Amino acid sequence: MDRSSALTEQFLSSLPQADHALPNFIQAIREVATDVMTVEKNNADWTAARVLNRLAEPDRVISFRVTWEDDDGAVQINRGWRVQGSNVIGPYKGGLRFHPGVTLDDLRFLAFEQCFKNALTGLPLGGAKGGADFDPRGRSRSEIMRFCQAFMRALAPFIGPDKDVPAGDINVGTEEIGNLFGAWAQQAGLYQGALTGKGLSYGGSAVRTEATGYGLIYFLQAMLERMGEALEDKRIAISGKGNVARHAAAKAMALGAKVIALSDTAGTIHAADGLSRDALDWVAERKSAGESLGPLPNRIDAEFAEGATPWEYPADIALPCATQNEIDADQAQALVDNGVTLLAEGANMPTTADGLRVLRKHSVTYAPGKAANAGGVAVSGLEMSQMSQRRFMSADEVDTALKGIMADIHARVSEDGQRSGGVNYARGANVAAYRRLASAITAQGVL
Ligand code: NDP
Repeated sequence: MDRSSALTEQFLSSLPQADHALPNFIQAIREVATDVMTVEKNNADWTAARVLNRLAEPDRVISFRVTWEDDDGAVQINRGWRVQGSNVIGPYKGGLRFHPGVTLDDLRFLAFEQCFKNALTGLPLGGAKGGADFDPRGRSRSEIMRFCQAFMRALAPFIGPDKDVPAGDINVGTEEIGNLFGAWAQQAGLYQGALTGKGLSYGGSAVRTEATGYGLIYFLQAMLERMGEALEDKRIAISGKGNVARHAAAKAMALGAKVIALSDTAGTIHAADGLSRDALDWVAERKSAGESLGPLPNRIDAEFAEGATPWEYPADIALPCATQNEIDADQAQALVDNGVTLLAEGANMPTTADGLRVLRKHSVTYAPGKAANAGGVAVSGLEMSQMSQRRFMSADEVDTALKGIMADIHARVSEDGQRSGGVNYARGANVAAYRRLASAITAQGVL
């Protein structure tokens, strides 16, 4: 066993026994530990401060009941959580996810990853994540609004603009953020930026909706540029049909790439020469109507394959933008067999540990979500400053700032991930973020 693996095993065995029952959290922390334990052990202050152990244990986990009435007047009960990971470099910051399958395991891993992602942005943002096991599918708009209001009644005492600033995530988009913000402002009796992802008419930032997808493409451009290549005419397979997937697709198309696939839980739409703008608009319509993908109207030249994934088609680049653990070893092998040489994560941890092993074995250049999808939280950071200053930036200003932040993240990650013949982006991201967190933790003492 090499030094890094030995230190990782030693570190994992030092975690509380209960944490070993959280497979996603253990997967995320194992990947980080493999890269950073040698860095920690080479610095006496960081070793003494037990930096990674402190980051592995969230500052607090808030768990609460959400009680609300459905349209028939029946009482419904859901479970809500907020995991406040670390506020050592700024107020807690991270999205809220509403999904029946959400577990504390997911939120622990996401909050941990968020601390690293936010550190990479260079902005003063701590890490958190939250959500509820609420399924919005099949619910009316007024049921969703009442759920959001009930959720916020329980969460409001724990958040605020300098304390903890939630944003959207899966199934929490602009409408839900509107309901959550309205409920918070009424309860707190304040008009402040306690949430990001707000609408433009009440304190939101231009380009926030598009930021994660656009940022992913700016990061991809920086990777390609470093390799002496360009985005133009590259065939890109994208999973998902949500916020991240659609905006990544739109930006990639605008910059001359061919987006050959998009998907959802029902299947994949595919066009070997690239989907048209019309096809993308149709996908957006299905998403906002809450409908699954299916056969396309005749006017659109693309096919729908039920149950298929975007990785089953020839492509140069893969951008998983749907959900965690969507690329296992078989899917990774399919990507390799179909010619993919670069994968950048739009979703959080979409690649399993086995999937990663396959990508590495075949020398696929890999960019982890904590670096490649940081554009969303970066623009949330800009939304927080705009709200505090009561001065709002134009869409061009925000887009230019986003490009600058993604280029800076790419530079930071490339520096720490330098290796002969290229960049190990996963290691670079973990080490660069860890250094910033470790230096803040040791500067602030034993807390
Ligand atoms: P959305 O809710 O807007 O969309 C998610 C989409 O993924 C849905 O259309 C869903 O399909 C689809 N999906 C879920 N599971 C699968 C699967 N196994 N196979 C194919 N499609 C699937 O979410 P977002 O776009 O906001 O988020 C996507 C990912 O990006 C998440 O991991 C999130 O944490 C991450 N992320 C999001 C950010 C943001 O700013 N929104 C910021 C950084 C990361 P269906 O419609 O059938 O349910």
